[in-house]
Amino acid sequence: MDKQTLSFQAEVKQILHLVTHSLYSNKEIFLRELISNASDACDKLRFEALDRAELFEDAPQLEVRVAFDVEAKTITISDNGIGMSADEAVAHLGTIAKSGTRDFIAALEGDKKKDANLIGQFGVGFYSGFIVADRITVESRRAGLPADQGVRWSSEGTGEFEVQTIDRPARGTDVILHLRDGEEEFLSAWKLKSITSKYSDHISLPILMRKQKWDEEKKEQVDTDEWETVNKAAALWTRSKSDITDTEYQDFYKQLSYDSEAPLAYTHNRVEGRSEYTQLLFVPAKAPFDLWNRDKRGGVKLYVKRVFIMDDAEALMPVYLRFVKGVIDSADLPLNVSRELLQESRDVKAIREGCTKRVLSMLEDVAENQKDKYAEFWKQFGAVLKEGVGEDFANQERLAKLLRFASTHADEGVSFSDYLGRMKEGQEAIYYVTADTLATARNSPQLEIFRKKGLEVLLLTDRVDEWMLSHLYEFEGKPLQSVAKGGVDLSKLQDEDEKKAAEATAEAFKPVIERLKAALKDRAKDVRASTRLVDSPACIVVDEGDMSAHLSRMLKQAGQSAPKSLPILEVNPGHSLVQRLESDQRFDDLAHVIFDQALLAEGGQLEDPAAYVQRVNRLLVAPA
Ligand code: ADP
Ligand code: MG
Repeated sequence: MDKQTLSFQAEVKQILHLVTHSLYSNKEIFLRELISNASDACDKLRFEALDRAELFEDAPQLEVRVAFDVEAKTITISDNGIGMSADEAVAHLGTIAKSGTRDFIAALEGDKKKDANLIGQFGVGFYSGFIVADRITVESRRAGLPADQGVRWSSEGTGEFEVQTIDRPARGTDVILHLRDGEEEFLSAWKLKSITSKYSDHISLPILMRKQKWDEEKKEQVDTDEWETVNKAAALWTRSKSDITDTEYQDFYKQLSYDSEAPLAYTHNRVEGRSEYTQLLFVPAKAPFDLWNRDKRGGVKLYVKRVFIMDDAEALMPVYLRFVKGVIDSADLPLNVSRELLQESRDVKAIREGCTKRVLSMLEDVAENQKDKYAEFWKQFGAVLKEGVGEDFANQERLAKLLRFASTHADEGVSFSDYLGRMKEGQEAIYYVTADTLATARNSPQLEIFRKKGLEVLLLTDRVDEWMLSHLYEFEGKPLQSVAKGGVDLSKLQDEDEKKAAEATAEAFKPVIERLKAALKDRAKDVRASTRLVDSPACIVVDEGDMSAHLSRMLKQAGQSAPKSLPILEVNPGHSLVQRLESDQRFDDLAHVIFDQALLAEGGQLEDPAAYVQRVNRLLVAPA
């Protein structure tokens, strides 16, 4: 290929601009990114060479070298990994193929405190070189290609790059950074070593730098011809637990996850038995900004006998634990295992079950012993964990114990066990209400009788709650019951007088109920005297088997059709507005207004707001 000048893909230009301008305060990460690419390239070579040993050529010892040249003002990161063909250089260094680029740009633009970790999370690390360099030259030859099929790629990181074919005997890649003026601080062995060990100690390949010696004449350190390994170069999870410090675990996590915060908890075990593997799993303290993006990368990396096999091996973790980061190193899986094979493998199933149990125990331990930390975890990941209640029946009970809610008794952090401990004598169910917001939930008219009787009600406002509850019917033998569904039977909590009084009112009220039924026959499937209202005139409830109003609203918002079923109107015979119905001339208007208001109170929308306004106005102008 003769020299060609090509233009970066539009997204790359945008990212280059953002990266160089917004991540400047954290510029040393360029070295982490380029070393991590070099190490990935070696992993890829090792993997491809499983079937094609000739790819190792005559250099089976994989390594990364970092060198610098004070005169030329360059830093060079070299590896003898898989390398790139000319086409690959154009594709990988000129375009971004990954999903989520838009999210990334939005996150970088939106976030006030620019997070340098985003760049690694998104896999656009190469471009971070342009934070410190005003030109980057990449020279590479792909393993297996002849020496005359090397490639030189070069760019100033603005709009364009150049590529051409070159002779290059050495397999692998050199990334040469021509430093910008003012970035000379990086031309120091000490500086480069300290950044390398800060970020790359766990990289299992040796990272080499030239040994330095003191030059008496120049009065400074100068390079020698000897190379030395500057990182620990041992994969952390292969070391014995007792030799690893907390800080080492934390640093490993940060490198693995591109998180700047320490993890909430971790677990490291060698599992023996039917399936043999090592697990090192972390629960992050903070949710990544793309937690809800289902095709996000990250998660758990799979190794087989210390050979890297793949990132984000989704088969190793259930979807609802997608926030867990870490490494699984299996002793049994074949090295050429594919994603498809993983899905079917019984070993993998055993690993997934084992890992799930570990993560749940880890969470149980935090919930038990570090309540504040757990509360923080819950805020970040609670809604995701709830998915597990419906997805992982084998662990449903354990998951249910980990759930936390807001309730009428506490703003947050209420577990089912807390709830059971506060149940009243004679109370037979765990009561809850679902709504869009906490305020709507808290002010639901349906709660009134519960409040009056001092019964706790859980307030559920997460989008997944309804779905979760369709899979969870009880906790420790106590049924879960919506306060807005079916009839609430609090009769065990009423004394004889209360019961008698309620029956008498209901009886006396029958004619009004019949008239209401007739007036609202197109809107309500039934009208009845309520036992759950205290201060409100009316409320909407749905039949036991019907979908809650909240859920059908959510489905509609999501563009799905919800089965149409009419709600039930419950009226409060003790309320003066309802009592007025008996004698009022404008029965029809009042009936509809009461119905509409009940709908509004539980967060619903009126189908015909104009009709409602007209009715209210008619009532307002008419003499009482
Ligand atoms: P990521 O590493 O997440 O894929 P980068 O922006 O860091 O994103 O790198 C982009 C791509 O460029 C890599 O996926 C890889 O294909 C290629 N690449 C970068 N550095 C090297 C290297 N040293 N050897 C081989 N390929 C490389
Ligand atoms: Mg990278």
